[in-house]
Amino acid sequence: MIGSGFGGSVAALRLGRAGVETLVVERGREWPIPNDTELVIGNQDRPNSDMFWMRHITDWPAVVPTLISPVPGVMELSSEAHLNIACGAAVGGGSIVYTGVTVPPPRRYFERLYPGLSWDEFATVWFPKVRATLNASPMPPDVYGSAPFTHSRVWDAHMRKAGHAPAPLDSTFDWGVVRRELAGSVRPSAIAGETDFACSDGAKRSLTRNYLPSALATGKVSLRPLTEVTGLGRTASGRYTVEVRRLAADGSAHGAESLLCDRLFVCAGTLNTNRLLVAARETGALPDLPAEIGTGFGDNGDQFNLYAYTDLPAGPSQGSPCASGTFHDSEFGIPMRAESWQLLGAHGLPVIHTLTMTADFDNRGTFAYDRLRGRVRLADWTRDKSRPSADAGAALNAKVIAANPGVVPFSLTWPFTLTAHPLGGVVLGRSTDLYGRVKGPRGCTCWTAR
Ligand SMILES: Cc1cc2nc3c(=O)[nH]c(=O)nc-3n(C[C@H](O)[C@H](O)[C@H](O)COP(=O)(O)OP(=O)(O)OC[C@H]3O[C@@H](n4cnc5c(N)ncnc54)[C@H](O)[C@@H]3O)c2cc1C
Repeated sequence: MIGSGFGGSVAALRLGRAGVETLVVERGREWPIPNDTELVIGNQDRPNSDMFWMRHITDWPAVVPTLISPVPGVMELSSEAHLNIACGAAVGGGSIVYTGVTVPPPRRYFERLYPGLSWDEFATVWFPKVRATLNASPMPPDVYGSAPFTHSRVWDAHMRKAGHAPAPLDSTFDWGVVRRELAGSVRPSAIAGETDFACSDGAKRSLTRNYLPSALATGKVSLRPLTEVTGLGRTASGRYTVEVRRLAADGSAHGAESLLCDRLFVCAGTLNTNRLLVAARETGALPDLPAEIGTGFGDNGDQFNLYAYTDLPAGPSQGSPCASGTFHDSEFGIPMRAESWQLLGAHGLPVIHTLTMTADFDNRGTFAYDRLRGRVRLADWTRDKSRPSADAGAALNAKVIAANPGVVPFSLTWPFTLTAHPLGGVVLGRSTDLYGRVKGPRGCTCWTAR
């Protein structure tokens, strides 16, 4: 198993329960979370090397570019042409850096994407099972009513004035920890806007608190952190070879080895699953991988819009859990979800931040192998491919501003669009069957964000 994020942890639990001996190799570190009194990894106000995977300079919205050391930090930020791609790089994968919003897809889009899967079965069996295991729930009224979530209440009020009806969203934040922060008994983390580089007090119910420990408790699953897969291949007898290098916390390499397995689960997230499989196909290491692998990539339409307001109070800080969202089927030209986001650094400032995401079925990208450099890159993404999503997000923001006197546009400029939700490249039902089993080579399965 490559990767210990959502795909890897869930697959490891299923395999462990089925009695299958499973080794999970994970490039990232296991972080000492929770720590109730100190910041474990950096944050936007206090950038440091541990925030990023092997980078020399920070690159994140609202973080002043800062020189850092290339160490196995918690977030990979890959600067592709015209698109920055962010993903987790730690034991627990994206669940360490994500914002815990846990929403099932609307039936109409799920059925369009996966015509062979039963939405009814997912809605009655699988979504509730995941929700219960992750312990996801909406923000309770006392948290929603507290000062650090003033921005959430203002977002809802402004949306309503614009004619939209925000609905509460499920979240994997641990409201008990958030309440302790509000009471002052632990260091403020979630209520101060930390999330992108983890909440050091364990305010998020990351996979390291549910699926992963359950998988390890089966006794059949073992985990090797700081072990990066560098290449895949196959022996003459049909077993998979997995080349790994061991890393130290300071980023230095501590040896390499070749692992052998009968079944290979590639759960390295969208970016790195594509990197590993496209390279394996194009170098001839796994030549029978389907030609579709690497195609059908999308940026989830991620767009960020802001405005400032004068008509309502601003809280002392902006809490990071997302309280609510809206869904827009056709008003903005493309199906779009909007979520009430926060801005760490806007302590006491009347600033509203909205994240919009779209279902753009037309604008897709391709991962290709660059033979000269021996690297897989996103080959054909252009600003035009992000344009429909950018226009839709901006139109919603403009509508909310127009409906609320005293509200003015405000922007944070950044050179590239950022996606925190890279999807596709190994498309379910196209490169794989509907169980994620890769077409072509036997015994290779991909469970990643689709
Ligand atoms: C800042 C941010 C906020 C987000 N907020 C939300 C949210 O609120 N709600 C939501 O639903 N989603 C959110 N997401 C997206 C979510 O995190 C991803 O969709 C999800 O983690 C994808 O799961 P995955 O298993 O495909 O990959 P991941 O969770 O990324 O796991 C892949 C794992 O594989 C490891 N790996 C990669 N390459 C190698 C290699 N070569 N060798 C060994 N190990 C490797 C990685 O280190 C990682 O641990 C957010 C993402 C980011 C970056």
